Amino acid sequence: MEEIDLRSDTVTHPTPEMREAMARAEVGDDVLREDPTINRLQEMAAAMMGKEAGLFVPSGTMGNLLAVLTHCGRGDEVIMGDLAHTFLYEAGGVAALGGVMPHTIPNQPDGTLKLEDIRAAIRPDDVHHPVSRLVVLENTHNRCGGVPLTVEYTCRAGELAHRHGLLLHLDGARIFNAAVALGIRAAELATPADSVTFCLSKGLCAPVGSVLCGTVEFIERARRIRKQLGGGMRQAGVLAAAGIVALTKMIDRLAEDHQRARMLAEGLANISGLRLDHPVPATNMVFVSLADSVSYSAAQIAERLRSDGVKIGVVGERRFRLVTHYWIDDQKVEKTIEAFRRAI
Ligand SMILES: *Cc1c(COP(=O)(O)O)cnc(C)c1O
Repeated sequence: MEEIDLRSDTVTHPTPEMREAMARAEVGDDVLREDPTINRLQEMAAAMMGKEAGLFVPSGTMGNLLAVLTHCGRGDEVIMGDLAHTFLYEAGGVAALGGVMPHTIPNQPDGTLKLEDIRAAIRPDDVHHPVSRLVVLENTHNRCGGVPLTVEYTCRAGELAHRHGLLLHLDGARIFNAAVALGIRAAELATPADSVTFCLSKGLCAPVGSVLCGTVEFIERARRIRKQLGGGMRQAGVLAAAGIVALTKMIDRLAEDHQRARMLAEGLANISGLRLDHPVPATNMVFVSLADSVSYSAAQIAERLRSDGVKIGVVGERRFRLVTHYWIDDQKVEKTIEAFRRAI
Protein backbone atom coordinates (compact mmCIF):
# COMPACT_ATOMS: atom_id res chain seq x y z
CA MET A 1 0.00 0.00 0.00
CA GLU A 2 1.47 3.34 -1.04
CA GLU A 3 1.47 5.76 1.85
CA ILE A 4 -0.29 9.12 1.63
CA ASP A 5 1.46 11.67 3.83
CA LEU A 6 -0.42 14.95 4.24
CA ARG A 7 1.09 15.96 7.59
CA SER A 8 3.20 18.69 6.01
CA ASP A 9 4.97 19.70 2.81
CA THR A 10 8.21 19.17 4.78
CA VAL A 11 7.79 15.42 4.15
CA THR A 12 8.56 15.89 0.45
CA HIS A 13 11.63 14.04 -0.70
CA PRO A 14 13.79 15.25 -3.59
CA THR A 15 12.66 14.75 -7.19
CA PRO A 16 14.70 12.50 -9.54
CA GLU A 17 16.03 15.65 -11.23
CA MET A 18 17.23 16.94 -7.86
CA ARG A 19 19.04 13.69 -7.06
CA GLU A 20 20.69 13.89 -10.45
CA ALA A 21 21.79 17.52 -9.86
CA MET A 22 23.03 16.63 -6.36
CA ALA A 23 25.18 13.82 -7.72
CA ARG A 24 26.75 16.12 -10.31
CA ALA A 25 27.12 19.25 -8.12
CA GLU A 26 30.40 21.14 -8.19
CA VAL A 27 31.40 21.80 -4.57
CA GLY A 28 33.94 23.66 -2.45
CA ASP A 29 34.40 24.86 1.13
CA ASP A 30 31.49 27.23 1.73
CA VAL A 31 32.98 28.66 4.95
CA LEU A 32 35.72 29.93 2.63
CA ARG A 33 32.95 30.99 0.19
CA GLU A 34 34.35 28.57 -2.37
CA ASP A 35 31.32 26.44 -3.10
CA PRO A 36 30.22 27.53 -6.59
CA THR A 37 26.84 25.81 -6.31
CA ILE A 38 26.00 27.55 -3.03
CA ASN A 39 27.20 30.86 -4.43
CA ARG A 40 24.93 30.41 -7.40
CA LEU A 41 21.93 29.46 -5.27
CA GLN A 42 22.47 32.49 -3.04
CA GLU A 43 22.64 34.83 -6.03
CA MET A 44 19.50 33.34 -7.56
CA ALA A 45 17.64 33.54 -4.26
CA ALA A 46 18.63 37.16 -3.67
CA ALA A 47 17.53 38.13 -7.19
CA MET A 48 14.18 36.39 -6.73
CA MET A 49 13.62 38.22 -3.44
CA GLY A 50 14.72 41.57 -4.85
CA LYS A 51 17.58 41.71 -2.30
CA GLU A 52 21.32 42.30 -2.64
CA ALA A 53 22.55 39.08 -1.08
CA GLY A 54 21.54 35.66 0.20
CA LEU A 55 22.85 33.18 2.76
CA PHE A 56 22.20 29.42 2.59
CA VAL A 57 21.16 28.04 5.98
CA PRO A 58 20.23 24.53 7.15
CA SER A 59 16.65 25.39 8.12
CA GLY A 60 13.99 28.07 8.14
CA THR A 61 14.30 28.14 11.92
CA MET A 62 17.96 29.10 11.63
CA GLY A 63 17.11 31.70 8.97
CA ASN A 64 14.59 33.41 11.24
CA LEU A 65 16.89 33.14 14.26
CA LEU A 66 19.77 34.66 12.29
CA ALA A 67 17.54 37.51 11.14
CA VAL A 68 16.49 38.32 14.70
CA LEU A 69 20.03 37.96 16.11
CA THR A 70 21.42 40.15 13.33
CA HIS A 71 18.80 42.88 13.65
CA CYS A 72 18.47 42.89 17.47
CA GLY A 73 20.68 43.05 20.54
CA ARG A 74 20.10 41.57 24.00
CA GLY A 75 17.08 43.09 25.72
CA ASP A 76 15.62 44.38 22.46
CA GLU A 77 12.06 43.56 21.59
CA VAL A 78 10.65 41.89 18.50
CA ILE A 79 6.95 42.35 17.71
CA MET A 80 5.24 39.30 16.20
CA GLY A 81 1.91 37.51 16.04
CA ASP A 82 0.80 35.21 18.84
CA LEU A 83 0.38 32.48 16.20
CA ALA A 84 3.72 33.17 14.50
CA HIS A 85 5.92 30.18 13.72
CA THR A 86 8.84 32.07 15.26
CA PHE A 87 6.88 32.43 18.50
CA LEU A 88 5.35 28.96 18.66
CA TYR A 89 7.60 26.51 16.87
CA GLU A 90 11.21 27.65 17.01
CA ALA A 91 12.00 26.46 20.52
CA GLY A 92 12.25 29.97 21.94
CA GLY A 93 15.54 30.48 20.12
CA VAL A 94 15.37 34.28 19.94
CA ALA A 95 15.08 34.46 23.75
CA ALA A 96 17.39 31.54 24.56
CA LEU A 97 20.24 32.51 22.25
CA GLY A 98 19.74 36.22 21.63
CA GLY A 99 18.18 37.52 24.85
CA VAL A 100 15.57 39.08 22.57
CA MET A 101 12.06 39.52 23.97
CA PRO A 102 9.12 38.46 21.81
CA HIS A 103 6.28 40.97 22.18
CA THR A 104 3.24 39.18 20.82
CA ILE A 105 0.07 40.78 19.49
CA PRO A 106 -2.99 38.91 18.16
CA ASN A 107 -2.82 37.42 14.70
CA GLN A 108 -6.00 38.18 12.78
CA PRO A 109 -7.73 35.27 10.99
CA ASP A 110 -6.20 36.47 7.70
CA GLY A 111 -2.68 36.13 9.10
CA THR A 112 -2.12 39.88 9.44
CA LEU A 113 -1.33 41.93 12.53
CA LYS A 114 -3.54 45.00 12.95
CA LEU A 115 -1.49 48.08 12.16
CA GLU A 116 -2.89 49.81 15.24
CA ASP A 117 -1.77 46.85 17.37
CA ILE A 118 1.75 47.09 15.92
CA ARG A 119 1.71 50.83 16.54
CA ALA A 120 0.55 50.35 20.15
CA ALA A 121 3.23 47.69 20.77
CA ILE A 122 6.08 50.02 19.81
CA ARG A 123 7.65 51.30 23.03
CA PRO A 124 8.34 54.96 23.63
CA ASP A 125 11.99 55.90 24.13
CA ASP A 126 12.18 55.54 27.90
CA VAL A 127 14.86 53.95 30.08
CA HIS A 128 12.22 51.69 31.65
CA HIS A 129 11.37 49.96 28.38
CA PRO A 130 13.07 47.46 26.16
CA VAL A 131 13.97 48.91 22.76
CA SER A 132 11.47 47.97 20.04
CA ARG A 133 13.67 46.87 17.16
CA LEU A 134 11.90 44.56 14.77
CA VAL A 135 8.52 43.43 13.41
CA VAL A 136 8.14 39.89 12.05
CA LEU A 137 5.42 38.96 9.54
CA GLU A 138 4.75 35.49 8.14
CA ASN A 139 3.72 34.77 4.53
CA THR A 140 1.91 32.47 3.91
CA HIS A 141 0.66 32.35 7.47
CA ASN A 142 0.86 28.74 8.56
CA ARG A 143 -1.38 28.64 11.66
CA CYS A 144 -3.91 31.00 10.06
CA GLY A 145 -4.67 28.48 7.31
CA GLY A 146 -1.84 29.04 4.83
CA VAL A 147 -3.26 32.43 3.84
CA PRO A 148 -1.13 34.85 1.82
CA LEU A 149 -0.53 38.41 3.00
CA THR A 150 -0.91 40.97 0.22
CA VAL A 151 1.73 43.32 -1.15
CA GLU A 152 -0.36 46.28 -0.03
CA TYR A 153 -0.57 45.06 3.57
CA THR A 154 3.12 44.20 3.71
CA CYS A 155 4.02 47.67 2.40
CA ARG A 156 1.85 49.35 5.01
CA ALA A 157 3.35 47.29 7.83
CA GLY A 158 6.86 48.03 6.52
CA GLU A 159 6.16 51.77 6.32
CA LEU A 160 4.80 51.77 9.87
CA ALA A 161 7.85 49.90 11.21
CA HIS A 162 10.30 52.14 9.35
CA ARG A 163 8.54 55.35 10.35
CA HIS A 164 9.21 54.39 13.99
CA GLY A 165 12.79 53.30 13.38
CA LEU A 166 12.03 49.56 13.45
CA LEU A 167 12.99 46.96 10.86
CA LEU A 168 10.77 44.38 9.18
CA HIS A 169 11.65 40.69 8.79
CA LEU A 170 9.46 38.45 6.66
CA ASP A 171 9.23 34.76 7.54
CA GLY A 172 8.52 33.70 3.98
CA ALA A 173 8.87 29.96 4.57
CA ARG A 174 6.15 29.53 1.92
CA ILE A 175 6.49 32.87 0.14
CA PHE A 176 6.34 31.16 -3.27
CA ASN A 177 2.98 29.64 -2.38
CA ALA A 178 1.82 33.18 -1.58
CA ALA A 179 3.25 34.58 -4.82
CA VAL A 180 1.66 31.85 -6.95
CA ALA A 181 -1.71 32.25 -5.20
CA LEU A 182 -1.62 36.03 -5.73
CA GLY A 183 -0.26 35.77 -9.27
CA ILE A 184 2.75 38.00 -8.57
CA ARG A 185 6.53 37.70 -8.20
CA ALA A 186 7.83 36.82 -4.74
CA ALA A 187 10.08 39.90 -4.86
CA GLU A 188 7.01 42.14 -4.67
CA LEU A 189 6.08 40.55 -1.35
CA ALA A 190 9.65 40.73 -0.04
CA THR A 191 10.47 44.31 -1.11
CA PRO A 192 8.92 46.05 1.92
CA ALA A 193 10.95 43.82 4.28
CA ASP A 194 14.54 44.45 5.35
CA SER A 195 15.16 40.71 5.42
CA VAL A 196 13.34 37.60 4.28
CA THR A 197 13.76 33.85 4.72
CA PHE A 198 12.20 31.16 2.57
CA CYS A 199 12.33 27.36 2.66
CA LEU A 200 13.58 25.17 -0.17
CA SER A 201 12.60 22.06 1.76
CA LYS A 202 8.80 22.41 1.84
CA GLY A 203 6.61 22.57 -1.25
CA LEU A 204 9.69 23.13 -3.40
CA CYS A 205 10.82 19.56 -2.52
CA ALA A 206 14.53 20.12 -1.81
CA PRO A 207 15.73 17.83 0.98
CA VAL A 208 17.41 20.51 3.14
CA GLY A 209 17.79 24.24 3.38
CA SER A 210 16.48 27.77 3.46
CA VAL A 211 17.89 31.07 2.27
CA LEU A 212 18.07 34.31 4.25
CA CYS A 213 18.19 37.43 2.05
CA GLY A 214 18.86 41.10 2.69
CA THR A 215 21.47 43.80 2.06
CA VAL A 216 25.12 42.85 1.58
CA GLU A 217 25.94 44.49 4.91
CA PHE A 218 23.18 42.55 6.75
CA ILE A 219 24.19 39.24 5.18
CA GLU A 220 27.86 39.80 6.15
CA ARG A 221 26.85 40.17 9.79
CA ALA A 222 24.45 37.21 9.56
CA ARG A 223 27.26 35.07 8.08
CA ARG A 224 29.36 35.53 11.22
CA ILE A 225 26.42 34.62 13.46
CA ARG A 226 25.68 31.57 11.30
CA LYS A 227 29.25 30.45 12.06
CA GLN A 228 28.69 31.05 15.79
CA LEU A 229 25.59 28.86 15.67
CA GLY A 230 27.50 26.07 13.96
CA GLY A 231 25.74 26.61 10.66
CA GLY A 232 28.89 27.15 8.60
CA MET A 233 28.74 24.14 6.30
CA ARG A 234 31.51 22.91 4.02
CA GLN A 235 30.76 21.09 0.72
CA ALA A 236 27.05 21.73 1.05
CA GLY A 237 26.76 22.43 -2.67
CA VAL A 238 25.26 18.94 -2.92
CA LEU A 239 22.30 20.40 -1.02
CA ALA A 240 22.28 23.72 -2.83
CA ALA A 241 22.11 21.86 -6.16
CA ALA A 242 18.69 20.56 -5.19
CA GLY A 243 17.79 24.10 -4.14
CA ILE A 244 18.63 25.41 -7.60
CA VAL A 245 16.31 22.84 -9.17
CA ALA A 246 13.69 23.89 -6.60
CA LEU A 247 13.93 27.53 -7.69
CA THR A 248 14.03 26.84 -11.43
CA LYS A 249 11.51 24.00 -11.76
CA MET A 250 9.26 23.77 -8.73
CA ILE A 251 7.67 27.17 -8.23
CA ASP A 252 5.07 27.42 -10.97
CA ARG A 253 3.77 23.94 -10.24
CA LEU A 254 2.74 24.99 -6.70
CA ALA A 255 -0.54 26.02 -8.36
CA GLU A 256 -1.26 22.29 -8.74
CA ASP A 257 -0.90 21.79 -4.98
CA HIS A 258 -3.31 24.67 -4.41
CA GLN A 259 -5.77 23.15 -6.87
CA ARG A 260 -5.54 19.76 -5.08
CA ALA A 261 -6.05 21.46 -1.69
CA ARG A 262 -9.30 22.87 -3.11
CA MET A 263 -10.30 19.40 -4.40
CA LEU A 264 -9.55 17.91 -1.02
CA ALA A 265 -11.53 20.63 0.79
CA GLU A 266 -14.48 20.13 -1.53
CA GLY A 267 -14.49 16.38 -0.92
CA LEU A 268 -14.18 16.72 2.84
CA ALA A 269 -16.92 19.35 2.94
CA ASN A 270 -19.33 16.71 1.61
CA ILE A 271 -18.71 14.39 4.56
CA SER A 272 -21.15 15.04 7.37
CA GLY A 273 -19.22 15.34 10.61
CA LEU A 274 -16.48 17.53 9.12
CA ARG A 275 -16.28 21.32 9.18
CA LEU A 276 -13.79 23.25 7.10
CA ASP A 277 -12.08 26.39 8.43
CA HIS A 278 -11.94 27.78 4.88
CA PRO A 279 -14.21 26.11 2.31
CA VAL A 280 -11.80 27.30 -0.38
CA PRO A 281 -8.20 27.01 0.85
CA ALA A 282 -5.99 29.89 -0.32
CA THR A 283 -2.87 27.79 -0.86
CA ASN A 284 -1.83 24.21 -0.02
CA MET A 285 -3.27 23.79 3.49
CA VAL A 286 -6.64 22.40 4.48
CA PHE A 287 -7.76 22.86 8.08
CA VAL A 288 -10.76 20.77 9.07
CA SER A 289 -12.52 20.09 12.38
CA LEU A 290 -14.83 17.39 13.72
CA ALA A 291 -18.44 18.37 14.28
CA ASP A 292 -19.94 17.78 17.73
CA SER A 293 -21.91 14.86 16.28
CA VAL A 294 -18.69 12.86 15.89
CA SER A 295 -17.87 10.94 19.05
CA TYR A 296 -14.24 10.18 18.16
CA SER A 297 -11.41 12.57 19.01
CA ALA A 298 -9.13 13.97 16.32
CA ALA A 299 -6.35 11.66 17.55
CA GLN A 300 -8.62 8.62 17.19
CA ILE A 301 -9.67 9.60 13.67
CA ALA A 302 -6.02 10.21 12.72
CA GLU A 303 -5.15 6.74 14.03
CA ARG A 304 -7.89 5.14 11.95
CA LEU A 305 -6.70 7.02 8.88
CA ARG A 306 -3.14 5.94 9.54
CA SER A 307 -4.13 2.28 9.55
CA ASP A 308 -5.76 3.03 6.20
CA GLY A 309 -2.43 4.40 4.86
CA VAL A 310 -3.17 8.12 5.28
CA LYS A 311 -1.13 10.35 7.58
CA ILE A 312 -2.57 13.74 8.61
CA GLY A 313 -1.66 16.38 11.18
CA VAL A 314 -3.62 16.70 14.42
CA VAL A 315 -3.59 20.35 15.49
CA GLY A 316 -6.08 20.37 18.36
CA GLU A 317 -8.58 18.21 20.24
CA ARG A 318 -10.90 18.18 17.22
CA ARG A 319 -8.89 19.71 14.42
CA PHE A 320 -6.65 18.50 11.59
CA ARG A 321 -4.23 20.03 9.12
CA LEU A 322 -3.69 18.46 5.71
CA VAL A 323 -1.02 19.84 3.39
CA THR A 324 -0.83 19.04 -0.31
CA HIS A 325 2.52 18.81 -2.11
CA TYR A 326 4.41 17.38 -5.09
CA TRP A 327 3.97 13.76 -4.02
CA ILE A 328 0.18 14.05 -3.65
CA ASP A 329 -1.62 13.46 -6.95
CA ASP A 330 -5.34 13.53 -7.77
CA GLN A 331 -5.72 9.85 -6.97
CA LYS A 332 -4.24 10.32 -3.50
CA VAL A 333 -6.64 13.18 -2.87
CA GLU A 334 -9.56 10.90 -3.77
CA LYS A 335 -8.20 8.07 -1.61
CA THR A 336 -7.88 10.47 1.31
CA ILE A 337 -11.49 11.59 0.99
CA GLU A 338 -12.60 7.93 0.89
CA ALA A 339 -10.48 7.11 3.93
CA PHE A 340 -12.09 9.98 5.85
CA ARG A 341 -15.52 8.71 4.89
CA ARG A 342 -14.66 5.28 6.29
CA ALA A 343 -13.03 6.64 9.43
CA ILE A 344 -16.01 8.80 10.36
C1 LIG B 1 8.41 25.51 8.35
C2 LIG B 1 8.38 26.91 8.76
C3 LIG B 1 9.55 27.57 9.19
C4 LIG B 1 10.92 26.92 9.30
O1 LIG B 1 10.92 25.59 9.55
P1 LIG B 1 12.20 24.63 9.44
O2 LIG B 1 11.55 23.31 9.67
O3 LIG B 1 13.13 25.03 10.50
O4 LIG B 1 12.80 24.75 8.08
C5 LIG B 1 9.44 28.89 9.51
N1 LIG B 1 8.28 29.54 9.41
C6 LIG B 1 7.16 28.95 8.97
C7 LIG B 1 5.91 29.75 8.83
C8 LIG B 1 7.16 27.61 8.65
O5 LIG B 1 6.04 27.03 8.24
